[in-house]
Amino acid sequence: MVEIKHMCKWYGEFSALHDINLTVAEGERVVVCGPSGSGKSTMIRCINQLEAHQKGTILVDGVEVKPGMKNIELIRREVGMVFQSFNLFPHMTILDNLILGPMRNRGASKAEATELAMGYLERVHIAGQAGKYPPQLSGGQQQRVAIARALCMKPKIMLFDEPTSALDPEMIAGVLDVMIELAEEGMTMICVTHEMGFARKVADRVVFMDEGEIIEIAEPQEFFSNPQSDRAQLFLSQLL
Ligand code: ATP
Ligand code: MG
Repeated sequence: MVEIKHMCKWYGEFSALHDINLTVAEGERVVVCGPSGSGKSTMIRCINQLEAHQKGTILVDGVEVKPGMKNIELIRREVGMVFQSFNLFPHMTILDNLILGPMRNRGASKAEATELAMGYLERVHIAGQAGKYPPQLSGGQQQRVAIARALCMKPKIMLFDEPTSALDPEMIAGVLDVMIELAEEGMTMICVTHEMGFARKVADRVVFMDEGEIIEIAEPQEFFSNPQSDRAQLFLSQLL
């Protein structure tokens, strides 16, 4: 589903990613972790070209994504993304936030988009809030709306970049529950998160990054009980 080979990325002179190799199969759930600044966000943002890489190749569903490509919108339709900040339009209702993408980019009618949106709002347990505006919702509710909004585009893969790290502790479980349900339904997912309980529960593999490189890729049980590198051991020892 996603195949990254020998990918490198610089911000100016600064080498942010070095020789990244990662293949994620259809239906696979991968958790990416590592210290701040290790390149986790940059790596997943390259998959839908929110950041441009300079070397190596990235294939999404068999199509090479590269800087300056014309049909990047086609790729972005397939690749849903959820950020730490929810990025909802504050002046639009929850429902209007959700129907915008399918109407603009998938040619859905308003009625079709509304039906789809209400279905996903049910799934993230928030259908009762459809007529409200984002600032009227809690952070956890807004993040679940952001997940529903991404799902409305019927993505083949979902990318999550620390979706719970801006939330109050009591809001985190509700968002993780939605992500766990999504994983159980077979969605292909790449999740940057430090929620190690989530990683243990749903990840097929854990990717550990440091200083722009992938240091280890292992099954969660293996990674948590027997991290191979000093850097992973140090990182895990610093997590509570
Ligand atoms: P965090 O856990 O703090 O979110 P991260 O692992 O997601 O960190 P990235 O945001 O991918 O790390 O950043 C990787 C490196 O690239 C960091 O050293 C960062 O300072 C640098 N970087 C990120 N974005 C830019 C940018 N737009 N311009 C220059 N340098 C950047
Ligand atoms: Mg980040």
